[in-house]
Amino acid sequence: MATCPVCGKEVDEEAARATTGFTAHGAPETDPTKGTRQFHDGRWYYFDSLECRTKFLARPETYARPS
Ligand SMILES: [Zn+2]
Repeated sequence: MATCPVCGKEVDEEAARATTGFTAHGAPETDPTKGTRQFHDGRWYYFDSLECRTKFLARPETYARPS
């Protein structure tokens, strides 16, 4: 289990990675209600919601922790 760096909730990495389909342009699409992820500074961060990812992207230096 990964932990959301913003709120501390556990995130199911498999669900966050799972591709639910493809967009009209062929890009893989994931279900954001099952969690999402963001590549930042050399590693993947997992989030339980898009809201948390938005907060992280706004101030990554506040939330990013060295692994
Ligand atoms: Zn969160």
